[in-house]
Amino acid sequence: MRSRYSAFALGNARYLWQSHHPDYRQGAEPPVPSQPEDLGQWEKLTIVFSSDFVNGQDGMVEFKAYYRENQQLQILHERSNFKKVAGRWFYTDGEFAPKALERNSMCPCGSGKKFKQCCNKS
Ligand SMILES: [Zn+2]
Repeated sequence: MRSRYSAFALGNARYLWQSHHPDYRQGAEPPVPSQPEDLGQWEKLTIVFSSDFVNGQDGMVEFKAYYRENQQLQILHERSNFKKVAGRWFYTDGEFAPKALERNSMCPCGSGKKFKQCCNKS
């Protein structure tokens, strides 16, 4: 899953499209090579948490990507959902600026443990 976000940093729009779940894609496949400017100037990526669900089919990554736009540092904060198809992870959809998961609530991965004792690594 992490490779998807490395792709953001590299500005590889085509890879992002290809790793997008076919049922959730919009638009046509971007041409190669995509230009790094397509996605702005990415500076840094931090993973808030990532989780491979116990069902083996779903995953979730929450990240903050920092980029520059008109000299201003911007933050894209997203919680992204993934599905595994034939051994590969595909992005399905995501939520922007998600509310923080409660440390004491059940972990989204389905382990039955509390988030703080499971996928929360912070
Ligand atoms: Zn978990």
